[in-house]
Amino acid sequence: MNPPFLVFAAPDIQEAEIAEVDACMRSGWLGTGPRVARFEAQFAAYKGLQPDHAAGVNSCTAALHIALVSCGLEPGSEVITTPLTFCATINAILHAGLQPVLADVDAQTQNIDPDAIEAAITPRTRAIVVVHFAGRPCDMGRIMALANKHGLMVIEDCAHAIETRYRGVEAGTFGDFGCFSFYVTKNVVTGEGGMILARDPALLAKARVLALHGMDKDAWHRFSDKGYRHYQVVESGFKYNMMDLQAAIGIHQLARVESALLRRQRAWDYYMQTLSPLPLELPAPPEPDTRHAMHLYTVLIDRDRFGLSRDDFLDGMNALGVGTGVHYLSIPEHPYYQQRFGWRPEQWPNAMKIGRETVSLPMSPKLTDQDLERVVAAVTKLAS
Ligand SMILES: *Cc1c(COP(=O)(O)O)cnc(C)c1O
Repeated sequence: MNPPFLVFAAPDIQEAEIAEVDACMRSGWLGTGPRVARFEAQFAAYKGLQPDHAAGVNSCTAALHIALVSCGLEPGSEVITTPLTFCATINAILHAGLQPVLADVDAQTQNIDPDAIEAAITPRTRAIVVVHFAGRPCDMGRIMALANKHGLMVIEDCAHAIETRYRGVEAGTFGDFGCFSFYVTKNVVTGEGGMILARDPALLAKARVLALHGMDKDAWHRFSDKGYRHYQVVESGFKYNMMDLQAAIGIHQLARVESALLRRQRAWDYYMQTLSPLPLELPAPPEPDTRHAMHLYTVLIDRDRFGLSRDDFLDGMNALGVGTGVHYLSIPEHPYYQQRFGWRPEQWPNAMKIGRETVSLPMSPKLTDQDLERVVAAVTKLAS
């Protein structure tokens, strides 16, 4: 009998969040309310911040969008970002009426290269969006120095980087905004969900207003027992608020994020040891004085060295019952961006090469020793 298909990033859902969702349902308060406020305060505290620095939203995409709108940049301003990211990073820049400019990644760290950022700065550059890829922090020392020198806003896409630290400082607290995802595959899960951190509480307040229609008061204050209060619309806002049902899951997921990271570390270490004799490239070890969130474990499959193309490797793993991911085909591989901007993948060769060779192996706190052995056996079989 074949064991069940091993999914690539299984969420670890436990009884605590099931009971909290149950209690939330029974309370009758499903929308934005006390559980969102609790989750925001808990998340802010986890990041070493006061509660007025964190706002729950319904996705990281929403967080990125309202962060960029809250920056108040002139339409068409250039925003430098990485070509090795999920499309949402780029789309948020476009939806904010801004112009994305790609700066290539470092071949080893797979993070945006500060030299490439510097080379991409023009008189129209106003912001940098960094992505802490796979959970590895970007070189925030050099990036913040560049931002300060050129007067640029910094937004951190922390979709992979809840637990990430760089020289003792939490990812998401370097820039003007930090944007987090609680999508089902991420290190903290709410189904769909996100969080926005802001250094300046005034900017966070603006983002909060934008996340709920541009209304100046939260709906749950509006309908509370303090009596009806009129709201005023002060911005052309969006419908991006987080629900208590989502926060009910997140509260317990976040409480376990550190123990889950230890289990990710075990899986990471096991892969490192057992895959090292095989003809593929393993992730670079975390840099000193940083903390890697170990969101993704990515290997590079070079056809000549491995004896199989990356795409044949993906099919082979699937046939052996092991789920994988690709993070990511570089942004200029996609037709929309090619047509709109005339981008070609060759212009960002490191991101192109990684995007064409990378495979994300299963990574989850739920992986058992047997699961890990199965993954490595499958890779070994394909290599021989
Ligand atoms: C998952 C992800 C997003 C989008 O997150 P959602 O919460 O699904 O909107 C954005 N950027 C990166 C790098 C991601 O991995």
